[in-house]
Amino acid sequence: LIQVVGVKEHEKFKGVYWVSFEDGTERLATINLTPGKRVYGEQLIQWEGREYRIWNPYRSKLAAAIMNGLKIMPIMEGTRVLYLGAASGTTVSHVSDIVGNEGIIYSVEFSPRVFREFMEKLVDQGRKNVIPILADARYPEQYVHIVKSVDVAYIDIAQPFQAKILADNADVYVKSHGYVMLVIKAMSIDVTKEPSETFKREIDVLKDRGYEILDMVHLEPYDTAHAMVIGRKTS
Ligand code: SAM
Repeated sequence: LIQVVGVKEHEKFKGVYWVSFEDGTERLATINLTPGKRVYGEQLIQWEGREYRIWNPYRSKLAAAIMNGLKIMPIMEGTRVLYLGAASGTTVSHVSDIVGNEGIIYSVEFSPRVFREFMEKLVDQGRKNVIPILADARYPEQYVHIVKSVDVAYIDIAQPFQAKILADNADVYVKSHGYVMLVIKAMSIDVTKEPSETFKREIDVLKDRGYEILDMVHLEPYDTAHAMVIGRKTS
């Protein structure tokens, strides 16, 4: 195994770290909120009394966006997040590490089979800041009794009309001047369109709905035909 030679905080984002290895490589990581527990087979690193989990950009689009120079990342300690498309919780787990026990992640997933796997992992790990919700993100009113006001809404559901679904949720749950994070998957939105055309169309939906676009990065080489967009409510 290649030895770790250092850990330092990310130059812009609190709660995100760079782990340096003796071969000169650097990898993203977060502090493990549930030490000793892995979520998706990731490497655990012990350094100066803390345990870090390596954050794989090929498995998590948020990590890919950070690797590709994302400038604004509105998730930090204490942030309240509505996460749409939790799947089995790979990215949710790193967001959970970052927001810590003062933050919360309402995590919506609509596939019962995937949700069961997500629940089993959560129970095994004992992550207390993740609230799993089996629901369809297209109908935000389904979880109005569970979700409180949040700072950030994040969507990665690989379905058509993602920007619209994100705005429908953010209109209800994101606080004034709060943030939205949109993963656009060009292929699953419209296979007949060029990615850039799809990206523009989805961004225009957010603009029309009153969101200012702050940042956008493509996710190659970690994910092809994907982009991450960061927006903010203008009121
Ligand atoms: N965000 C995850 C991560 O990085 O670890 C990966 C998400 S995966 C690309 C998309 C997930 O969204 C799938 O698990 C799928 O079942 C879920 N999904 C698709 N449409 C949905 C909807 N309308 N409501 C809730 N979840 C949905």
